[in-house]
Amino acid sequence: MPVKTVKGTRDIFYPDIEKWKFFEEKAREILKTYNFKEIITPIFEYTEVFARGIGEDTDIVHKEMYTFKDRKGRSITLRPENTASVVRAYLEHKMYAEGGIKRLFYIGPMFRYERPQKGRYRQFFQLGVEVFGSKNPFIDAETIELVINILEKVGLKGLSVNINSLGCEKCRPVYRENLQKFLKGIKEKLCEDCKRRIDTNPLRVLDCKVPSCKEALKDAPNIQQSLCEDCKEHQAKVFHYLETMGVKYEVEPNLVRGLDYYTRTVFEVVSDNLGSQNAILGGGRYDNLVKEFGGPDTPAFGWALGIDRLVLLLEDKNFDFANKTIYIVPAGNSIDYCFQTAKILRENGLASEVMADSKSLKKALNSVNKQRGRFVLIAGESEREKGIVIFKDMENKTQREIKLENIAKELKDEIDK
Ligand code: AMP
Repeated sequence: MPVKTVKGTRDIFYPDIEKWKFFEEKAREILKTYNFKEIITPIFEYTEVFARGIGEDTDIVHKEMYTFKDRKGRSITLRPENTASVVRAYLEHKMYAEGGIKRLFYIGPMFRYERPQKGRYRQFFQLGVEVFGSKNPFIDAETIELVINILEKVGLKGLSVNINSLGCEKCRPVYRENLQKFLKGIKEKLCEDCKRRIDTNPLRVLDCKVPSCKEALKDAPNIQQSLCEDCKEHQAKVFHYLETMGVKYEVEPNLVRGLDYYTRTVFEVVSDNLGSQNAILGGGRYDNLVKEFGGPDTPAFGWALGIDRLVLLLEDKNFDFANKTIYIVPAGNSIDYCFQTAKILRENGLASEVMADSKSLKKALNSVNKQRGRFVLIAGESEREKGIVIFKDMENKTQREIKLENIAKELKDEIDK
């Protein structure tokens, strides 16, 4: 039996890869207009980075990390997310010393040992941003508006923004205690994971997806009613800015997100068209994480978007460029002439392929058909002598001669028609 991919991982190739590139290029273009700079961190880090950064009591650290010992016995982990790594890099390179607000973005693979299903993989790709150095609610709103802008520019519809506040070190402990009291009262109705979470991470119970837990939580205390004045004011300003920026949102008091490090604003964007794995992205404010890593007191805000899921939503668009590629067929001893023709097209930004192995014109045309191609040039010995090529449009079933010196212009016109 030939070897296959590891469970939960996949190969991504043409034409799907075109959707990925389309999304990445659009996103990079827009991020630049908001003054974000790219950062590439290693795919693996010392395990401590994630254990400290994400929180020991989270599902990710508890049961989803790919952790192994290297040859010197050091504990290494494949990154399950990138915020902890970016914070590590921010401190390692003393980026805070430059002053001002630091805006970073990343694109790359993440690894989590989760149960694979459509939209959920063990290696998946995220685009994420982190903004360091501002407590201002404007940053929360603008960073949310940024991602909505990206999603709209790639043509996504049917999106909702859910938003909540998790309070701060003043008001969250009071809420946590109230919630814990409530959860102890309904413990028997909760799933095994949630029973454990009552002591370790009670807020996490709020976004458990098990139906019986959801039902049992109907009368749970609402975090929105426990926010202190400062958190309320922060949230009101975030809402105000979102409204002035034209971003629609819903307040969702049970939205807590799986990670420990959030403070105040948390949000996610969900799609109506994704089934059970409907969250495209999530994020929020994390004002204490940099300090907890041993750095200066630096408030921060970020989100991470799942590219695999986003690409599933781009399915209807046509990214296949086979019908824009020009296939060049030799006849007799004319491969050099084909290459000369291809070179002119390529210099002018047109995609072309020399069908060097074609045994006959008929076989070449069959092969172009199979690849969903449309445009063919026959560049044989007799055409070379006349300084022309024969152009065939397989869709319209037309054929004509074109002078070699005019091919770039004429084929551009054909493709743009
Ligand atoms: P998180 O880092 O858990 O906040 O997730 C942010 C986004 O990454 C989610 O909204 C998903 O779109 C995506 N994501 C998270 N886990 C996976 C996974 N296992 N497979 C595919 N996408 C994922």
